[in-house]
Amino acid sequence: LNLHSVVCIIGAGPSGAATSIFLSRLGIKHIIVDSATFPRNKTCGDGLDLKSVRMLNHIDPAILSEIAVADPHFTPSWGFRFITPQGRVRNFEYKPLPGKIHQPPFFVCKRMYFDHFLVKRIDKQTATFLQGTKVVDISRNAGVWHITAKQKDTAVSITCNLLIGADGDHSVVLRYLGQRTIQKEYYAGSVRQYWKNIAGLHEKNLLELYYPKDKPFSYFWIFPLPNGEANVGFGVQSDLIAKHDYDLKHIFNDLITTDKMLKHRFADASPVGPVQGWGLPLASLQRKASGDGYLLVGDAASLVSPVTGEGIGTGMMSGYVAAHFAKHAIEKNNFNADVFAHYNREIYKRLMDDVKTHRRFQLFPRGFNWMVNHLNFEHPIINRILQNAMRKWVNTAYNAPLKVKVD
Ligand SMILES: Cc1cc2nc3c(=O)[nH]c(=O)nc-3n(C[C@H](O)[C@H](O)[C@H](O)COP(=O)(O)OP(=O)(O)OC[C@H]3O[C@@H](n4cnc5c(N)ncnc54)[C@H](O)[C@@H]3O)c2cc1C
Repeated sequence: LNLHSVVCIIGAGPSGAATSIFLSRLGIKHIIVDSATFPRNKTCGDGLDLKSVRMLNHIDPAILSEIAVADPHFTPSWGFRFITPQGRVRNFEYKPLPGKIHQPPFFVCKRMYFDHFLVKRIDKQTATFLQGTKVVDISRNAGVWHITAKQKDTAVSITCNLLIGADGDHSVVLRYLGQRTIQKEYYAGSVRQYWKNIAGLHEKNLLELYYPKDKPFSYFWIFPLPNGEANVGFGVQSDLIAKHDYDLKHIFNDLITTDKMLKHRFADASPVGPVQGWGLPLASLQRKASGDGYLLVGDAASLVSPVTGEGIGTGMMSGYVAAHFAKHAIEKNNFNADVFAHYNREIYKRLMDDVKTHRRFQLFPRGFNWMVNHLNFEHPIINRILQNAMRKWVNTAYNAPLKVKVD
């Protein structure tokens, strides 16, 4: 099978699927390739933050009201709960003002379903979507990429001018660009497992974050799912894993069975499936995500928030930005690095605050501990400040169009 298109995306996770959807919106024909056949699983916390909500709204404003009321695979979540290292439980429940947008700020949805949900929105008129097609070799010659892939026993050969790497943390695109190296201080490891019947979940499905006292800069999460299930996990930065020789699966099991803040909640709960692990390439790396003939999006571009560990929304946003840069390059008929000079600025615009906050916490770890221990969301003044901030963020997510400046 021999194919040619000006643009080819490798990877159809949330970042690649979003890139494809927005390229189609701009009328740009392209090929999109994924080694998996959807639905497929991706180890994740399954939490959809305000950036994800914003991007879903950009795909189709009807999606959010639909998933909030009519799709049983999505759990609307109205806030978060911190369980502090000192054992205090702090709930923050978002309360919209009467007459204003009454929509939840977060959702939780298993990636097995969510990624397929997005992939189904790839426009077959403008996109040639090859599933079950694994890219095994990439080279570039005289401005043209040559991609070799395998589809069962069929060899697939694709040529393109602009390659978009959306193939996640184990990116083959990065490997062929010679950039797939892991720097532990900009990378995190984590494990997650599905559970059923955990006691004490909040009726508004608050996303729970627990900061174990003896493991600074790590967190344990419980994200409620439909049917009494929850996504439960534990993550920590890789330099700390190496320094303390952490065994994540062991720590995870230990927390569930022995930690005084958690064990009673898991006493009558049961696991659904195995503990699974995967890496998180953090945005604190600030990887250069473009060059001659290529753009990177999502995990391939190392865009996971180093503060929250969330990468679905930032990945989808980078797909939106990449689609606009692709349009710009096609209009100029120039795919050289200079056309993408401002790509990093645009993908980091809404991520830099997280990168800076993370840097401050690294410099002043005590500040982080103090904050987690003392932020009492139920205190009337703190609650009011947070409610106001949340209203602004929700309003942005549900209403504000994303602007991209290509030069
Ligand atoms: C344990 C854990 C918990 C997390 N929790 C959250 C959370 O709650 N919320 C959140 O927002 N983020 C979370 N993240 C981060 C999030 O999972 C990623 O940031 C997100 O999946 C990035 O999407 P992506 O499309 O860039 O990559 P992926 O979702 O990894 O998709 C990459 C795609 O590329 C395909 N591919 C790979 N290699 C090839 C190849 N050779 N040929 C063809 N196709 C290929 C794969 O099949 C895959 O479909 C978590 C991560 C982990 C590990």
